[in-house]
Amino acid sequence: MSLILGIESSCDETAAALVTSDREILAHKLAGQEAEHAPYGGVVPEIAARAHAEILTPLIAAALAEAGKTLDDVDAIAATAGPGLIGGVMVGLVTGKALAMAAGKPLIAVNHLEGHALSPRLVNPDLAFPYLLMLVSGGHCQILRVEGVGQYRRLATTIDDAAGEAFDKTAKILGLGYPGGPRVEAFARQGDPKAVPLPRPLVRSPEPHFSFAGLKSAVVRAHQSGAHKPEDIAASFQQAVVDCLRDRLEKAIQDHGSCAHLVVAGGVAANGPIRAMLEQVADENGMAFTAPPQWLCTDNAAMIAWAGAERFAAGLTDSLDFVARPRWPLDPTAEKARGAGVKA
Ligand code: AMP
Ligand code: MG
Repeated sequence: MSLILGIESSCDETAAALVTSDREILAHKLAGQEAEHAPYGGVVPEIAARAHAEILTPLIAAALAEAGKTLDDVDAIAATAGPGLIGGVMVGLVTGKALAMAAGKPLIAVNHLEGHALSPRLVNPDLAFPYLLMLVSGGHCQILRVEGVGQYRRLATTIDDAAGEAFDKTAKILGLGYPGGPRVEAFARQGDPKAVPLPRPLVRSPEPHFSFAGLKSAVVRAHQSGAHKPEDIAASFQQAVVDCLRDRLEKAIQDHGSCAHLVVAGGVAANGPIRAMLEQVADENGMAFTAPPQWLCTDNAAMIAWAGAERFAAGLTDSLDFVARPRWPLDPTAEKARGAGVKA
């Protein structure tokens, strides 16, 4: 049995956790930065990096105290090394390196997306490779075939915005505030999902990818026209996202076959209608559906510690000169999506 300290700081959540290879979560601590970023309607990278630098060390100390452990008890230190906002990633990775060096423990540089991808195995010991993963967060929208630790096939990605980003922008346009996802979902309950005609970008396209930028522009136009109730725009927007995710997932299954399990991860997995749709698609294709608990879907350090535990068990550790990677695809062999902007 090994004990891993996990560190996460790639976006606007500072987090530290202690997780064992036996799937025991001894501590997980998280400090959000919503108040710092709320006035700007989105995450400001410089503010995020400073906030991580202030809070991370005491948070790690608090996690160790809660678990009743010291650094001597830890077998390895796993820190997110990308992808993400580079200032924040560097704070977490350098902290991880310093602790590894001081305590004489191995460093594991974790790809944040691998943290999301493996997190369902932390709570579901029966979840065997391979499985299909719908990763829908504020920064990513991908369908992956998870074939093993460090082995991922990207079946689809977004050529522009992520799904969560589209929720956040819609919330901003409708004046609902930040973070937008939960507010749009709540507001959409009072609206009619069929009221506003909105596009379903790339639906039925022969290429498997996602696109949400045109949907956002259509939301702006619908709002500016003054012809629609904002709750109808919210409901119609959410329905458009559900339809896009469904179509692209069905295409991926058609092109690449199904797996025993369909898994969802990322903050957008909190969305009720999206979860319901995924469960239905899984059912229609003879797959079991696994949705990790909400706290494990959004950014956290338990998933980084767990990815560290999986890598440690596979003998994968990293040297102290590992360089933080703001961009770091899980599947380096995946071709750039045609028409993709910088985020592909
Ligand atoms: P993450 O990037 O994984 O930390 O997830 C954050 C993203 O998830 C943000 O873009 C949120 O707007 C989005 N999100 C959170 N809750 C919901 C929800 N209920 N519906 C849609 N999006 C959500
Ligand atoms: Mg994330």
